[in-house]
Amino acid sequence: MSQLVSTARASVVVAGEALASEFQPVYNPARTDEVVGEVAVGTAEHVEQAVAAASAAFRAWSSMPVQERAAFLLAAADELAGHVEDLATLLTREQGKVRWESVIDVGGAAKILRYYTGLADRLAADEVFRQDERGTIYVGRRPVGVTGIIVPWNSPVYLAFLGLAPALLAGNTVVVKPSEYAPLALGRILEVLAAHLPPGVVNTVPGGAEAGSALVAHPRVRKVFFTGSTATGQQVMRAAAGNLKNLSLELGGNDPAIVLASARIDERLVDELVRAVFTLSGQICFDVKRIYVHESHYADFVEQYVAAVDRIVVGDGLDPRTTIGPVNNRPQFERIQGLLDRTRTAGATVHTVGTKLDPVGWDRGLFLLPSVVTDVEPGAEIVGCEQFGPVVPVLPYQTDEQAIALANDTEFGLSASIWSEDREHALALARRLECGSVFLNVHRLGASDMSMPFGGFKGSGIGRGHGMYSLDACTELQAVADYVDVSGFPGPGPR
Ligand code: NAD
Repeated sequence: MSQLVSTARASVVVAGEALASEFQPVYNPARTDEVVGEVAVGTAEHVEQAVAAASAAFRAWSSMPVQERAAFLLAAADELAGHVEDLATLLTREQGKVRWESVIDVGGAAKILRYYTGLADRLAADEVFRQDERGTIYVGRRPVGVTGIIVPWNSPVYLAFLGLAPALLAGNTVVVKPSEYAPLALGRILEVLAAHLPPGVVNTVPGGAEAGSALVAHPRVRKVFFTGSTATGQQVMRAAAGNLKNLSLELGGNDPAIVLASARIDERLVDELVRAVFTLSGQICFDVKRIYVHESHYADFVEQYVAAVDRIVVGDGLDPRTTIGPVNNRPQFERIQGLLDRTRTAGATVHTVGTKLDPVGWDRGLFLLPSVVTDVEPGAEIVGCEQFGPVVPVLPYQTDEQAIALANDTEFGLSASIWSEDREHALALARRLECGSVFLNVHRLGASDMSMPFGGFKGSGIGRGHGMYSLDACTELQAVADYVDVSGFPGPGPR
């Protein structure tokens, strides 16, 4: 099998051709003096060319029977499935995540393409929506048009394909904008995908805010799938108003975990809550960002939890002994350090624990040991913000009412979890939480099934993804009314 990582370069690729551009280096966050590859600095002019190519390809791609489109996507999936191992190594080198996480992320390309092709029948024919003496009403799904897909750096491949697979299956053509902080593995995968499809169906413009904002503002882009922070999501929404784009916004979170009085504080619960917070160094939109523990368990929980977090080993994600890798980029690294400094200055206790895998090479990487924060007020910055790093506040509460009020007291509303031995009690409280997903006794990668709706209340987003919800999001419903009798509605005819 050919290796896809010989030269790691994410270019602007339009209708299968790499365009000329400036490039900037992509550094390894585990060794910031090591250049992993280079990424094109996409411009508004590149976006113009990519949108023109996607527009030109739209008519043929959208009018093809859905099973033919599915066959193209399956062929791409088969090739991509053979490249998971080499591209996972590249992803760890550019993103920092541990290798098994990269395997899941990169493996998502083939897995998600295959999953959506399994839904092709749902798009194949219009439904007879109503049939009676007046006639027949059909309802069908039509593609929206040229679709912009903008992705963050934390799970670049998986998140791109959660938009790409349904968009392409439904007959849209796309322009993808990877993040400048993790563009290399995704860029390679998009090249493979594009090569399996007619020219112009998939185009890539890597870069930062210039390319992203040009894509969102472009009048021939009809749909944007944006995954990123709430602050950028607000800018996207404003820019998309120009031609009233159809928007899907998957934004930030500040997920609470509520440990009820009816929970058992044992090894399973404690270990699951370590995974819930620290997977991918806390850089997952639905990682737990704050833990509320009933006062009857609080002291016991904190003791067991800090001890379990202390077993985390921080190092290069390619080393199998590492349990969490570095933070992905320097702005994020400095942001978390500043947050921790202010938290300490405000009087909270910060338990910084864990092991440095390579103490000598520590300062070469963007490494942070995990921290658990106690003696902190519910209104503190560390509790209210999306920290997006390996740090979590743990707070006591007294009553269910108080726990629900604290959990909902946020502008975010992505996910939450409830931890209890009493399933009925947990379910009753789950229904009072203002967020898109609630998990019981779990909260981690894999907990959100591909078929269940995923998305946020409030500042965590607009719309729902996964399964049929994504197909709904990248199609417009069209009603076709074939009436034989409208005599009940006379109107101003000649007689
Ligand atoms: P970000 O908002 O900084 O960037 C996201 C993407 O938007 C990047 O590709 C970036 O280049 C691009 N961009 C920047 N400015 C833009 C503009 N003005 N117009 C259009 N695009 C622009 O987010 P990030 O730091 O890359 O990712 C972390 C954030 O993503 C966190 O808030 C996290 O919670 C969120 N996220 C959400 C989900 C979800 O499904 N809800 C999943 C993963 C990450």
